[in-house]
Amino acid sequence: MKTINDYNFAGKKALIRVDFNVPLNAQFEVTDDTRIRATVPTITKILNDGGSVILMSHLGRPKTGPEEKYSLKHLVKPLEATFGRPVKFADDCIGEQATTLAASLKAGEILLLENLRFYKEEEKGDAAFAQKLAALGEVYVNDAFGTAHRAHASTAIIAQFVSEKICGLVMQAELDNAQKVLENAAKPYTAIMGGAKISDKILIIERLLDRVDNLIIGGGMAYTFFKAQGGNIGNSLVEADKLDLANELIIKAKEKGVNLLLPVDSLVADAFKNDANTQLADNSAIPDGYMGLDIGPKAIEAFVAVIKDSKTVLWNGPMGVFEMPNFAKGTESVARAVVEATKKGGFSLIGGGDSAAAVNSLGFGDDVSYVSTGGGALLEYMEGKVLPGVAALQ
Ligand code: AMP
Repeated sequence: MKTINDYNFAGKKALIRVDFNVPLNAQFEVTDDTRIRATVPTITKILNDGGSVILMSHLGRPKTGPEEKYSLKHLVKPLEATFGRPVKFADDCIGEQATTLAASLKAGEILLLENLRFYKEEEKGDAAFAQKLAALGEVYVNDAFGTAHRAHASTAIIAQFVSEKICGLVMQAELDNAQKVLENAAKPYTAIMGGAKISDKILIIERLLDRVDNLIIGGGMAYTFFKAQGGNIGNSLVEADKLDLANELIIKAKEKGVNLLLPVDSLVADAFKNDANTQLADNSAIPDGYMGLDIGPKAIEAFVAVIKDSKTVLWNGPMGVFEMPNFAKGTESVARAVVEATKKGGFSLIGGGDSAAAVNSLGFGDDVSYVSTGGGALLEYMEGKVLPGVAALQ
């Protein structure tokens, strides 16, 4: 796979698939620019080589064609501020205007194309659409790891129509860091899985059982295990059709010598809201009418003890409903323990989505080894699946 640093972009128009799917507020201002900042090294390298840059991305989930709130024109100003130069904008990602603007682009210039998903052809992986996009540039770069698990026109199909295809620096870093927890990870190796459902994470959990020393399970998915073991979990989240699976995982962990840690207690609430009435309860005896919304103090203590001495940590999914401040303590405590393990020389990978949001909102983004930008893509890569966006670059 050719990477950015293998190539001299002088005089070339680079068509870059980026992930600018950023959150916007009601005034269409970017409220978290992590994904924009992530692309700076790739774009800067190309501009510094004397190339020009055509940026293409999706934003949100437009249903049928253009929608103001999903227009990438809202990113022109933030991009101009980031790169310290004017950014041209094509208000259609294909067609005459985009073609003319792309053709007249000079070295050091940036052109941003309108939202790819204003065309249903993008998600369908339409070849004719991909070919039109490909014609805008001379070199194709994919730096959108977050959509690499989708065979969309701009992420995979387009590669058939370009003579040069190159892996961007974000994509490369994501793959390198995921590899560190898949092969030859330093031990003790601890995986922390949380979030709402086991069903989303079952494949990765099974794969991790062959690699890790400790598997910590927290968040909503933990209650299915307690229910499966015959406990009373009150109104806590449960996947009734996954009880057997939960028991099988407990047995498999034992067979493989993996230390499976389930949260022994929870902070339980009588309603799904921040100011609900709460109490502490053991997870196998949650009172009727109550639901577990965060791991409890005994669970925190046990989890932290294991995490802080780990040499490799992979974390995906919060320990509770961390969006509500009263139920954020478990997630916060785990985040601090991951930071401590990292400070002691361990390698820590935070796998996208909510765990990345939690680590970033606590200001720990720089205190862990790597925060992945791709939730679903990272999970699929770790499950051992071939990502179409990566395969297309090979
Ligand atoms: P996921 O996308 O599967 O990683 O799930 C993340 C979501 O799980 C977050 O929005 C959390 O609020 C939610 N979550 C975590 N723990 C619980 C819980 N005990 N009960 C309900 N939802 C939870």
